[in-house]
Amino acid sequence: MPLNDDDFMRYSRHLLMSDIGETGQQRLSQARVLVVGMGGLGCPVSLYLTAAGIGSISICDPDRVDKTNLQRQILYETADCGNLKVACAKDRLEALNPNVVIDTFPCQVDDKILAGNYDVVIDCTDNLDARQLINQICYDEGVPFVSAAAIGWEGQLLIFDFAHCRSLCFNCIINHSSAEPMMNCANSGVVGPVLGVMGSMQAIAVMRTLLGFSLQHGEVQRYDGKRGQWFSLQGSQDKECSVCGLMESKEYKI
Ligand SMILES: [Zn+2]
Repeated sequence: MPLNDDDFMRYSRHLLMSDIGETGQQRLSQARVLVVGMGGLGCPVSLYLTAAGIGSISICDPDRVDKTNLQRQILYETADCGNLKVACAKDRLEALNPNVVIDTFPCQVDDKILAGNYDVVIDCTDNLDARQLINQICYDEGVPFVSAAAIGWEGQLLIFDFAHCRSLCFNCIINHSSAEPMMNCANSGVVGPVLGVMGSMQAIAVMRTLLGFSLQHGEVQRYDGKRGQWFSLQGSQDKECSVCGLMESKEYKI
């Protein structure tokens, strides 16, 4: 669909860029993305993607706003406490940009929600089971998957371009067999702006893939906010990985 007068004003700073322009903006307006988790990461991710004019954004979170969220979850206000996060977020996001369709899922993510034909799935949860499910389904469906996490002063970003490469996945990098309980914001604390940095990195990765720029499959970026330093790594495949490894095909050969 061609851009209208409102679009030309609203997205003028994109339209000035030769590698976005009208064609890129139209691509963004036709895109469908899913944000899983509307906490400290999901807030900045959905704000930036809504402002950028992504066509359809589905948001998924079973929780209600709690006062302890307000230190970092920048979509919500004090008066929202007790209300569903996805309902509050939908109101704010639609007020920001009424051209974007916001669909809400006030529940834990499941395979039905993930089968929604998205161009990218953005993991903003702090739940390992949800991450493994997202990884499995994005891998199976060939959908790019952008994951982030933050704790204390540190953040981590993982990018999987399953549309072009399947030789490595989330399950290869994150040690899911650890017997230690998962650290999270609720038991270890987190600095709010670190979530803003990591959520912004996720939004940039989403825009890169939607605009047709390449993503580096298996890219791992770590941010140390206390020292102001970034570390970039390339993940490597676990040949025994139950999702993408060769274990299954070896068994078939016997
Ligand atoms: Zn794997």
